[in-house]
Amino acid sequence: MIETVQGPLDPGELGPTLIHEHVRFRDEAVAENWPGRYDGDAELAAAVAAVDAAKGHGVRTIVDPTAMFGGRDVRFMQRVAEQTGVQIVACTGIYTYDFLPHYFENRSEDLIAEHFIDDIEQGVQGTDIKAAFLKCAADAPGLTENIEKIHRAVARASLRTGAPIMAHSRPASNTGPRQVEIFLEEGVDPSKIQIAHTGDSDDLDYIEGLLETGVWIGLDRYGLDLYLPFDKRNATTAELLRRGYADRLFLSQDHCATIDWFPQEAVQGLIDAGLVRGWSMALIFEEVLPWLREQGLWDDDVQRQVLEDNPRRWLEGE
Ligand SMILES: [Zn+2]
Repeated sequence: MIETVQGPLDPGELGPTLIHEHVRFRDEAVAENWPGRYDGDAELAAAVAAVDAAKGHGVRTIVDPTAMFGGRDVRFMQRVAEQTGVQIVACTGIYTYDFLPHYFENRSEDLIAEHFIDDIEQGVQGTDIKAAFLKCAADAPGLTENIEKIHRAVARASLRTGAPIMAHSRPASNTGPRQVEIFLEEGVDPSKIQIAHTGDSDDLDYIEGLLETGVWIGLDRYGLDLYLPFDKRNATTAELLRRGYADRLFLSQDHCATIDWFPQEAVQGLIDAGLVRGWSMALIFEEVLPWLREQGLWDDDVQRQVLEDNPRRWLEGE
């Protein structure tokens, strides 16, 4: 069974799945201290609208890798799932590029792993909603001591529970290979490892180097042209499909229905500058899949493989 915020689900019921979207992204410490800066009703409405847009294209499940420091809130996810009828899969883990609270800084990999294991086996945030996968991140600072520690904790929790791993990566800093290496050193099977944001690169040697280790890759930031423009993302996806990797990749948007990283005018600035374009949970259906079909690289079988079989196989650890 696959754990969702609505409870355990038969894997055959996942249906078309987006592997990487956020129904809300915010800093829980800021939100806790300055709650008046956030509008809960507006956040919920935005999340429901974003998920409904995907549902309109047949999406039945959203995998939401919002972890600690992204404001993970499984009760909020549950409300979105109830209002949309779309299944949401939650995670456990820590989303940081280096900083750790003293709480985790002064605890070992194994002690940190215990927290993740509790989320997977007992439930998250005092609910009986269980995490289905593990999340960690490496970005511009690279695999610092803290980041390596979190990767090893995540790996150990995966070994104990069987839960798969999604690792945020930054191809521009060449983080992917070392992330994979750490997981493999810990004994994790590559079939359980997903290197997210690999599609921020169009360096096919870098991407194939990761694929050769047997891991999954996320071409999962369609709409975020600031990391790689849309046309380059498409050209890369097309070439990977031509080279026969449809059974190892995911397409998604890393869309955040709301995100508190920037003041509203700065967000508008990114949109005006063309650095964020068409970013939604529907963009791949509106612009990517039709284009891939025109190239003769997409049909119903490939769609079933990429949007249904791959998410199921990764979540099941096949
Ligand atoms: Zn994300």
